[in-house]
Amino acid sequence: MKKFLVTIIIITAIFSSLFIYTNNQSKKIAINQNKNKISTNKKQKKETSKTEIKQQNILLVNKQSKLSGNYTPQNLRVPNVKFMNSSDPNVRQMENEAATALENMFAGASKDGFTLLAVSGYRPYEYQKKLYDEKVEKDGKAEADKYVAEPGTSEHQTGLAMDLLSTEYTSLDDGFMNTNSYKWLLENCGKYGFIIRYPKDKENITKYNFEPWHIRYVGLPASQEIMNKSITLEEYLAEQNASK
Ligand SMILES: [Zn+2]
Repeated sequence: MKKFLVTIIIITAIFSSLFIYTNNQSKKIAINQNKNKISTNKKQKKETSKTEIKQQNILLVNKQSKLSGNYTPQNLRVPNVKFMNSSDPNVRQMENEAATALENMFAGASKDGFTLLAVSGYRPYEYQKKLYDEKVEKDGKAEADKYVAEPGTSEHQTGLAMDLLSTEYTSLDDGFMNTNSYKWLLENCGKYGFIIRYPKDKENITKYNFEPWHIRYVGLPASQEIMNKSITLEEYLAEQNASK
């Protein structure tokens, strides 16, 4: 009888340890499978964000990064917004997506009580060349380079930029920065895909003087991030490249 009891105890012990072992093994397998799942998810996430950056495809145009003379944006159209009376009808177009964003932004400003006025959008290479040559002739190259982009280096050739003012202030100069319309722009343009392209105190990076009136379409979410962080497009793109 004693022998029988001992045998039963031993058998039970063997079975229960076997049970614990298999149970642990299957748990381990489950944990490993989960780990794999998590790492695949992470991998996928990383790949998506890379593609997102590629899809953003933000065009950088500055004094170092020039456009060729025959670069012409696709799908240009005149945005359905108010223009300054003095605005040249030949330079009112924008690339379609940017034009829609501009319309939305003007409508948003209007809701908040500001009447924005568009001044100058897409300028072909030849038009920019004429502007630049005239300025050089008038004030010399050094002065011209501060205010007028050399042909091929103007964002206005991209169809993604617009100079704008408001009924509050209608001269294309620094004074625009003291208006409530400009404050509105600073706070809100990022929500519509736009940035203040040549901000104050960033001249060393953009190589342009502060231009409160010049906005550039980069699209969301880039615009929001650039405006929230008060950085330039150059700094944003450098950050994106560093995190790739
Ligand atoms: Zn401009």
